Amino acid sequence: MKDDLQRLIALQEIDLRLQELAERKRRIPEMVEAARQPLQSAQAARDTLKKEFETASKDRKACEQDLAAHEQAIGKLQDRAVKGEIKTNKEYQAHLFEVELAKKKKGEIEERLLLLMDLGDGKKKDLAQAERAVQATDQRFTAEKNTLEGSVGAVDEELAALKGKRETVVAALNPSLLRTYEKLRATRKGQALAGVTKEGTCMACRLHVQPQVVMEVKRATAIQTCSQCHRILYWAGEPVQIVPEPEPQAVAEPEEAAETTE
Ligand SMILES: [Zn+2]
Repeated sequence: MKDDLQRLIALQEIDLRLQELAERKRRIPEMVEAARQPLQSAQAARDTLKKEFETASKDRKACEQDLAAHEQAIGKLQDRAVKGEIKTNKEYQAHLFEVELAKKKKGEIEERLLLLMDLGDGKKKDLAQAERAVQATDQRFTAEKNTLEGSVGAVDEELAALKGKRETVVAALNPSLLRTYEKLRATRKGQALAGVTKEGTCMACRLHVQPQVVMEVKRATAIQTCSQCHRILYWAGEPVQIVPEPEPQAVAEPEEAAETTE
C-alpha cells in the first residue's frame, strides 16, 4: 500500500502539472493579445498626433495664402497713390488711414502665422517622438510574442514527457485504486489526494483529522480518507521519526513514543 500511495502522490503531481501546462498553453494567445496592448496605445497616440500635425499644416498654409492675398491688396492700395488716382487732401488722408488699417491687419496675420508655425513645429517634433515610441513598443511586442509563441514547443515537450510518465505510473497502480483516484479527481478540482500536516490537519479542507487516523496515515498500511472531503490522505508532516504529538494525552503519549521510535 505504501508503494501505491507513493504512486498516487506521483500521479497527482503529474496530473496537476499537466493541468497547469494545458492552462498555460491555452492562455498563450490571450497573453500575446495582452502584450499587443501597449503597441496599440502607442499607435493610437501616434495617429492622433499625425492628424493634429496635418491640421496645423493646413492651417498654416491657409494663413500663408491669407497673408499673400493681403499683401497683394496693400500693393493695389498703394498703387492708387502712385497712379495719381487720389485727387484731394481729404481723399489722401482717407487713403493713408486705409493703408494703415491694412498694414495693421497684415501684422495680425503675420502674428497668427508665427503661432501656427510654432504649433506645427511642436507637433512635428511630438510626432517624430511618437513614431519612435511606436517602433520601440513594436520591437518589445515582437520579442515578447516570439518568447510566448516559442514557449509552446517547450510546453508541448513537457506535456508529452509527463503523459509518458503518467502511463508508467498508472500501469503499476492497483486498478480499483486508480478508479477511486479518477473519481475523486473529477469531483475535487483535480485533487484526489490531500496531505495531512504535522498539526494533523487535512491540507485540502482544513479538517482536524482524528489522531487515530493520523497515525494510520503515517503508517500508510491502508488507504485512509478525509471524513469531510473524502480525499485520500497522505502524511505531509515532518519525517515520522521526529514528529512530536501536539496534544499531550496521558494515555496516548507512551503509545505515541513507541510509535515514533519504530
Ligand atoms: Zn479533507
